[in-house]
Amino acid sequence: TVETGRSLETVGLSRSFGGVHAVRDATVTFQQGKINALIGPNGSGKTTFFNCVTGMIKPDSGTVTFKGHDITRRSPHRIARAGIGRSFQLCRVFPRMTVLENLLVAVQPKGLRDLLSGARNPAEIDRARALLVRVGIDHLENSEARNLSYGQQKLLELAGVLMGDPDTIMLDEPAGGVNPALIGRIATLVQELNAEGKTFLVVEHNMELVMSLSDHVIVFDRGRPIAEGPPETVQSDPRVLEAYLGV
Ligand code: ADP
Repeated sequence: TVETGRSLETVGLSRSFGGVHAVRDATVTFQQGKINALIGPNGSGKTTFFNCVTGMIKPDSGTVTFKGHDITRRSPHRIARAGIGRSFQLCRVFPRMTVLENLLVAVQPKGLRDLLSGARNPAEIDRARALLVRVGIDHLENSEARNLSYGQQKLLELAGVLMGDPDTIMLDEPAGGVNPALIGRIATLVQELNAEGKTFLVVEHNMELVMSLSDHVIVFDRGRPIAEGPPETVQSDPRVLEAYLGV
């Protein structure tokens, strides 16, 4: 059974850099069990918001709650352990490690130490291999990550996120710089994982993808949410058009 209702919520979240209010007083509720999209013009605060939620940067004020627990200012590691996995806008993989090794180090901080000492957990290797099959890059298991196409690296990064078995997955521009064939595969994977109960929160510039993939769209402008709702509603919202066209 898929839990519905509130999953991740922020209340009055704010973060400035010098005089720039990157995120200001952002109160947002993401829907549990759904594919939520976060859109907005460049510089509207999406990445800063993401980073505040995942603990990569500290908000100046406001709170982040996940399943009723206050996770504001927890370390990224503890937030990940609570069940929130994330990918990065500029894909993060270890270029000189093999595809399989990348997944084995993704599991836990001491993963790297174990890997270097030659100690490998057979169950984790099985899980890693199953995830490579799932994302469709199992044939590249022994290739160094730097030899993969950018889209394949994004699939590897997604497999790395899945190694942590997160309940909620935050994807920062999953389709950015990826060729159209692989965008289709990423979209299908997101839909399948969502059908299995994973909640998604996706920052994406590809509007066609956002509109076809998401259940709930939240639009940021100048650091705060200005509109939210189903894609078809948000698409025709005058405030959204204004934010994008700057009229
Ligand atoms: P988006 O992801 O929507 O493009 P960002 O969160 O990256 O928006 O940026 C929001 C605003 O905050 C922009 O004006 C940006 O220049 C500023 N900003 C973001 N990160 C930093 C930083 N580390 N230092 C200074 N300014 C920043």
